Amino acid sequence: MEDCIFCRIINEEVPAKKVYEDSEFLVFADVNPQAPVHNLVIPKKHISNIMEIRDGEMLGRLFEVVQKVAQQEGIASDGFRVVNNCGENGGQTVDHLHFHLLGGRFMEWPPG
Ligand code: 5GP
Ligand code: ZN
Repeated sequence: MEDCIFCRIINEEVPAKKVYEDSEFLVFADVNPQAPVHNLVIPKKHISNIMEIRDGEMLGRLFEVVQKVAQQEGIASDGFRVVNNCGENGGQTVDHLHFHLLGGRFMEWPPG
């Protein structure tokens, strides 16, 4: 999608600090980090949000990527948080499916 910032990152039209990449997924550092580790895990295929997922098995593969990156970033053993914001009330600001991977500090609950 031309006007999607995350598609532009995938196509290397916009720079990002890549943390992991394979044929189906990209993981990169959030430009406005909320924790010592704050990465965004995205499918390369443009899917707007959770409501648009049609291939449920893709999510299983995506969470295998989460496992790999958590190991790689050194946050697997202490724990981490995975967040998805869906739609307006969910606080989604970029309409390309993404999961925040946050770690490196204790995560408070409840979120705002
Ligand atoms: P959302 O609010 O949709 O759940 O999360 C969008 C996230 O994307 C935000 O945490 C924001 O900081 C991040 N973000 C927005 N634009 C860019 C960008 O151009 N590059 C990077 N690396 N992150 C971005
Ligand atoms: Zn996109």
